[in-house]
Amino acid sequence: MTEYEAVIGLETHIQLNTNSKIFCSCKADSWNDPPNTNICPVCTGLPGVLPVLNRKVVEKAVLLAAAMHAEKIAPVSYMDRKNYFYPDLPKGYQISQYDCSIAKGGYLDVPMPDGEMRRVRIHKLHIEEDAGKTVRQRDRRWIDFNRCGVPLIEMVTEPDLRSADEAAQYVIRLRQLLRWIGVSEADMERGQLRCDGNVSIREKGSTVLNTKTEIKNVNSIENLRDAIAAEIARQIRTVEAGDSVKPWTLDWDDSTNTLRKMRSKETEADYHYFREPDLLPVVLEDAWREDILKDLPELPLDCRQRFMDTYDLPQYDAEILTEDRSRSEYYEKTAAAFGGDPKIVSNWMMNDVLRMLRDSGKSAGELKLSPEYLALIIRAVVDNQITSNTGKDLLEKVEESGRNPEEIIKADGLAQVSDDSALRPVVEALLAANPEQVEAYRGGKETLIGWFVGQVMRESRGKANPQLVREILEELLKE
Ligand SMILES: [Zn+2]
Repeated sequence: MTEYEAVIGLETHIQLNTNSKIFCSCKADSWNDPPNTNICPVCTGLPGVLPVLNRKVVEKAVLLAAAMHAEKIAPVSYMDRKNYFYPDLPKGYQISQYDCSIAKGGYLDVPMPDGEMRRVRIHKLHIEEDAGKTVRQRDRRWIDFNRCGVPLIEMVTEPDLRSADEAAQYVIRLRQLLRWIGVSEADMERGQLRCDGNVSIREKGSTVLNTKTEIKNVNSIENLRDAIAAEIARQIRTVEAGDSVKPWTLDWDDSTNTLRKMRSKETEADYHYFREPDLLPVVLEDAWREDILKDLPELPLDCRQRFMDTYDLPQYDAEILTEDRSRSEYYEKTAAAFGGDPKIVSNWMMNDVLRMLRDSGKSAGELKLSPEYLALIIRAVVDNQITSNTGKDLLEKVEESGRNPEEIIKADGLAQVSDDSALRPVVEALLAANPEQVEAYRGGKETLIGWFVGQVMRESRGKANPQLVREILEELLKE
């Protein structure tokens, strides 16, 4: 039996989060706008208008290229016309970049589920404008031009991925990076990150590149994974049946989870590219380039490694704490304010703060529970000023009110009772009221100690020092 391996390359379209479109001043994000309300003569290509390139688009493209370790960020690049007819492309051409794009080469390192790191090389990165949207509704088609002229980066990988899971991991890491460096919201369901997969198969161990198919219109990472897995299986069946794979373009239908043939693939020659005569070359002077790259932050995987090295965190913690930039900054600020064991801060974040973030839909930077306040709460627990349960309640209280936790501890009398003379009578009363349990404990059922501690904690509304309660209990039960 022949063993096959898949050869997968991904072509991604990334919607940049600029305020305005790429060649006009219409706003770029019109997700919530009624159709055809966010348009002008430039983005609908009326005669006599001239496009003007949005500076921010170049800046974000350069930032992304640097984050992808581009081999070359071009000091001069050109805009080209890509000619084709489609109802949602009113000009009859798309302004894009062809042979002299803003960046070439580069890579993204992607940690795979098996723990291995795979380097996915980037072939090319270029700037282009988006087309409009065709909305199918029963027997009608509607055209919405709002999206015309929204700035995109197209990024094409080399065929370095070997499975549907690897392709999914690449998109997960790319999405993290895009948000991390702040160039795109990268929400796949909103089309801010779109992914086409080029898939072929070959005998395992071979180095040939066989005929590939292209999968389009997947709008989530799950769909991308399913579509690629289905296509790999289909190609294997085709080859095993003695047929050859045709260079089709396939469409993923997420209502039936099946692939549908859209058309035979066009080749590049069909587009009749030529230089855009209405735009000047994009000249990236050194000073401008340096100014842009000043904003390039430490990248997510570097940050993860540093968290492991500097704070001595397990990879599991470091991974979760660096999932987004806001969270990683929050962690570092809290760890600095706390000053003690950074793993303790990590535990509080992973257990409690993350739940608050999930429930509220906020980012860490948006919490009223600031890193300084969180550090004060952790400090109070570590110093036995309050119990850890009180600490957890405090998180919610601070988040609701925005008040300083030390103030709340004082005002609400939350301080832990660590006074032997206050706790001893409570424990004595408890033992007197539960002679059966006392007898059972003394008869060898020592796990009952937990039940006794729980009763005292309940009685004290969580304020008793559990360690001290346990000590008093052990002492009195021994008698
Ligand atoms: Zn416009």
